[in-house]
Amino acid sequence: TDKTIIVVTPTYKRLTRIADFTRMANTLSHISNLHWIVIEDSSSIVPAIQNILTRTNLPFTYLACPSPPNFPNRGWYQRTMALKYIRENHMELLTGSKKGVVYFGDDDNSYDLRLFTEYIRNVKKIGMWGVGLVAGSLVESPNVSNSSVIGFNVQWSPDRYFAIDMAGFALDLQLILDSDVVFRSSCPSGTGALESCLLEDLGLKREDIEPFGFDREEKEVLVWHTKTAIPDIWDLRRSFWKVASPPR
Ligand code: UDP
Ligand code: MN
Repeated sequence: TDKTIIVVTPTYKRLTRIADFTRMANTLSHISNLHWIVIEDSSSIVPAIQNILTRTNLPFTYLACPSPPNFPNRGWYQRTMALKYIRENHMELLTGSKKGVVYFGDDDNSYDLRLFTEYIRNVKKIGMWGVGLVAGSLVESPNVSNSSVIGFNVQWSPDRYFAIDMAGFALDLQLILDSDVVFRSSCPSGTGALESCLLEDLGLKREDIEPFGFDREEKEVLVWHTKTAIPDIWDLRRSFWKVASPPR
């Protein structure tokens, strides 16, 4: 049977958050057999986000996990707490299927539906694909030759063992369950990027990577690392609307 897709999304209050989050919710609501884990970077959940989640009709878990004091790495602690939650509750997350796949989807990225239905759903162990508009590149992607990943086409930090953005990979659930890895910035290879460190800590090798989207002549991008510009609000205190939740 189909794997359940578990999407992990850290989120926090900011002017554009409801707009970003609505866009992502509208996307994910098209996908069946998906469980959305959203972790609020705060000590309490936000009703407006809870309401958006309820309206998706998706099964979801909404947790509040404030970052520890002086914890510099934004969204890292929340993703680690999601991994802990997944390990403790995986039976409840897999409704109707016995297997799962975990994807770290940030709330401000842009997602093609086929990323979920054609790529993530079909990941056996570790899948990777190109990511648009990220880290100084038009597209960052695995460098694929004869269906194997022989390196990465990236501008930023090309020495990473897995030179891939969070949006560019998904993992079989069993890898998470069989490990106690957390997000950190010290890697076996010594390079120090969040994504590479997690995958290295899992004991993965480049040979394990299943590349997606390289079997066609005309390659496509199915996820973009977009960033919503901060709007120029002249006077936040002079609002004509009573907003459901203060934006920040
Ligand atoms: N995030 C968070 N707390 C923060 C900053 C970011 O929970 O203080 C979340 C954010 O909502 C997003 C993810 O972490 O889902 C990555 O953050 P962001 O998009 O700002 O990072 P970037 O695009 O620069 O990698
Ligand atoms: Mn982002």
